[in-house]
Amino acid sequence: MRGYYVAVMLLLLPPCLGAQVEVENIRASRAPAQSRIVFDLSAPVEHSLFTLADPQRVVVDMNNVRVRQTVPQPDPADRLLSRIRTAKRNGSDLRVVLDVKAPVRPQSFVLKPNGEYGHRLVIDLQALTQKGAPSPQVAKALDVSSGRLRDIVVALDAGHGGKDPGARGRKGTLEKDVVLSITRRLARLINDQRGMRAVLVRQGDEYLELRRRIEIAREADADVFISIHADAYHDPGISGSSVYALSNNGASSEAAKWLADRENSADRVGGVSIQDKDDLLVSVLLDLSQTATVSASIDVGASVLRELQRLGKPHKASVQRAGFVVLKSPDIPSILVETGFISNPSEERKLRTADHQRRLAKAMFRGLFGYLTVNPPPNTLLAARQHVIGKGDTLSDIAQRYQVPVDALRTLNNLSGDLIRVGTVLHIPDAHGT
Ligand SMILES: [Zn+2]
Repeated sequence: MRGYYVAVMLLLLPPCLGAQVEVENIRASRAPAQSRIVFDLSAPVEHSLFTLADPQRVVVDMNNVRVRQTVPQPDPADRLLSRIRTAKRNGSDLRVVLDVKAPVRPQSFVLKPNGEYGHRLVIDLQALTQKGAPSPQVAKALDVSSGRLRDIVVALDAGHGGKDPGARGRKGTLEKDVVLSITRRLARLINDQRGMRAVLVRQGDEYLELRRRIEIAREADADVFISIHADAYHDPGISGSSVYALSNNGASSEAAKWLADRENSADRVGGVSIQDKDDLLVSVLLDLSQTATVSASIDVGASVLRELQRLGKPHKASVQRAGFVVLKSPDIPSILVETGFISNPSEERKLRTADHQRRLAKAMFRGLFGYLTVNPPPNTLLAARQHVIGKGDTLSDIAQRYQVPVDALRTLNNLSGDLIRVGTVLHIPDAHGT
């Protein structure tokens, strides 16, 4: 009899086995153009996110999750979020509905345990500004007053999408598919790095006008913008990656010009709403000095290209300059990476493999991270982890103070011995070993 009872119990267990993930806490916070909801979880979760209109709401489905406590409600002054509701689904899943006051663009990402926090699912709601109107400039350092360090936000723009497939390889590989997959891999690497966060400009197979891509990055308050492509050239022998930064004078080489025209033509294909308003926006943007931004873009680009070169001979060994529309943010260092030529048969074959996509994403991440550790935006974790050597400082003192191994300090800063110079900036490795 006892055996029979156990068998029935086993049959009743959900097929996924394992205990249900518990929502331990829900936290909501707000900034002028963004609201954030954080779910503290007992274990990592699988989730999906989508929006519904009339009334506007964002739906988050989490698999095998339950919530026991009462759900807190957002601050009435929150400009975007009006209510958080939860409901059980399919017996063991959780549905969270976020009622919003205005159209939003939701982004979600998961965070691994870190310090006092455990597994987290974070939902960011960004206000959608009216098309063509410059988005209100959100202060870059939202958390300065609270003394908190903000994440470095990297906007990742997978080229083309939807009705614009981009270039097509001989085997039928579409640029829009390959670059989205590379972009998602890069986003994962960025989100795994403490102090960094990726925002996907294009989240799926959707068509976005080029200027809209810039706007999305601005709305997300991005620190860096990377557009990812894998274009075609009429000569199938051409291969290798290249990196572009904005040139105000247009393309700097015949190939760059050809590519620039190609990229820009997508805006004409979409062609509906880029008349006077966007022209005005563009001229306003261009009136602002872009010198500092372009120079930072070239530095980011050089760092990324250096890493890409390790994978194989690049198409161009230095950062190219072109007038791509997506690079025209006046205040966000922006680069466009041609990961390879889909028109080259062997490169098309490689671009389709998970392995090569991973290598490309890793190389781009290393290049980006290398740049950011040396040039971290203010009020970020990476900026905080720098130490200006003072009188009487020794390497072991500094290591002890930041609780990192002396060897790690030496490696990161290219130091061979213990000799350090007053006034030198030391980069402090991440204590969590990321
Ligand atoms: Zn492209």
